[in-house]
Amino acid sequence: MDFKDTPEQAQFREQIRAWLKENAQPKTETETVRELSARYQQARAWYKKKAAAGYACLEWPKKYGGAGLTPIHKLIWSQEVAHYDEPDDYFVIGLGNCGPAIMHFTEEPLRSKLLQRMAANEDVWCQLFSEPGAGSDVAGLKTSAKQADNGEWRINGQKIWTSGAAHCDYGVVLCRSDTTVSKYKGLTMFIIDMRQPGVEVRPIKQMDRGQHFNEVFFNDAVVSDQYRLGAVGGGWEAALLVLMNERMAITAAVPNGFAEFFEFVRSAELDGKPIRNHPLVRDRLAEWHCMDAGVRAGFYRMFTAVAQGGMPGAEGAIGKLVAGKMNQDIAQFTLQLMGAAGAIHDPKIAHENAYFQDAILYTPGIRLAGGTDEIMRNIIAEQVLGLPQEPRADKGIAFEDIPSN
Ligand SMILES: Cc1cc2nc3c(=O)[nH]c(=O)nc-3n(C[C@H](O)[C@H](O)[C@H](O)COP(=O)(O)OP(=O)(O)OC[C@H]3O[C@@H](n4cnc5c(N)ncnc54)[C@H](O)[C@@H]3O)c2cc1C
Repeated sequence: MDFKDTPEQAQFREQIRAWLKENAQPKTETETVRELSARYQQARAWYKKKAAAGYACLEWPKKYGGAGLTPIHKLIWSQEVAHYDEPDDYFVIGLGNCGPAIMHFTEEPLRSKLLQRMAANEDVWCQLFSEPGAGSDVAGLKTSAKQADNGEWRINGQKIWTSGAAHCDYGVVLCRSDTTVSKYKGLTMFIIDMRQPGVEVRPIKQMDRGQHFNEVFFNDAVVSDQYRLGAVGGGWEAALLVLMNERMAITAAVPNGFAEFFEFVRSAELDGKPIRNHPLVRDRLAEWHCMDAGVRAGFYRMFTAVAQGGMPGAEGAIGKLVAGKMNQDIAQFTLQLMGAAGAIHDPKIAHENAYFQDAILYTPGIRLAGGTDEIMRNIIAEQVLGLPQEPRADKGIAFEDIPSN
């Protein structure tokens, strides 16, 4: 692993630094926009601006609308844009999770058409895996896909927690196409047109006042066989590709709160004295500094592997597990330090633009999205430590014979 930029990467970093300084909103001067449609509009406008400058889809091939650069250039971009208040990750589910699956599983000319539209932000995509009875155990899902004599598929069932579905044009949906085989073998994945009849999206109101999630109901929604991703019954392999990319995208995006905590303790006071001199604060600073350094090193390791043509490994699970909990702990601790001021949620007057007030509301979700803490621990136990797999009572049993409510 080499943390230093090559001369070419250093030049790229300087180039995007200059461009961001001219074009992106500085963090300290903007008001946090929590209302979904306003945030969505801001995200689209930002995407358009960066795409026009050639900074969208940096690691995608040029023929699909990308910049033809490498994952390392994407990493440099993420590091630099993190200093600004732009919703840069807003379309990450489509670009980061669905895009690679389309690249892998579709044929030309459909592939180029879908990817070019996605890269230009003409189509926004979502990922429809989770169901009310299938989240961690997503292979236990029930949404059915049945093929008619004309080759078309009919989709029926319900998804939940679908990020951004209310604004999406297309989705990648995982369905059960065969109930007579074991649960992993009877799945098939499709592209679905979210604007067609038979697809109903109901937004879910969140405690942070957003409406990021949705329930999605399918009632005889039609999918052409051309939109199948992978083999019939090969949905689990296709889903793993999406999930692997999701884990890497999430690890790249998960904030751990250390930079904001560091800024806070540099200037805040407690009982008229600099808060940074308090022994408990110093203890936490040292602990979280070490954790921050560890998470970043793991993340660079994962990116280096991907840049060299490998796949994201279990580092993603470690990074997500540590960063999610650390961010929540930092938010809790800092709000306690603030005392009554911690209750002020107006970004214009709260410390660090109300970062910690926001974090206390969104960090529980980070610890669930893309696999819960417990699932991350299972992955680390099995894939890193080589411990035995969890016992699986449903192994080898046809899906239709597994008792369920
Ligand atoms: C911010 C956010 C965005 C999301 N976006 C999407 C999206 O776009 N598309 C989508 O399909 N889904 C999305 N999800 C859903 C997410 O994938 C699920 O919430 C997650 O997989 C957990 O599933 P669940 O909520 O059904 O919880 P459950 O699986 O029911 O888990 C409940 C509890 O049981 C524990 N548990 C479950 N199984 C085990 C086990 N084997 N060992 C130990 N403990 C276990 C869990 O850790 C958890 O604490 C999103 C979630 C969040 C929070």
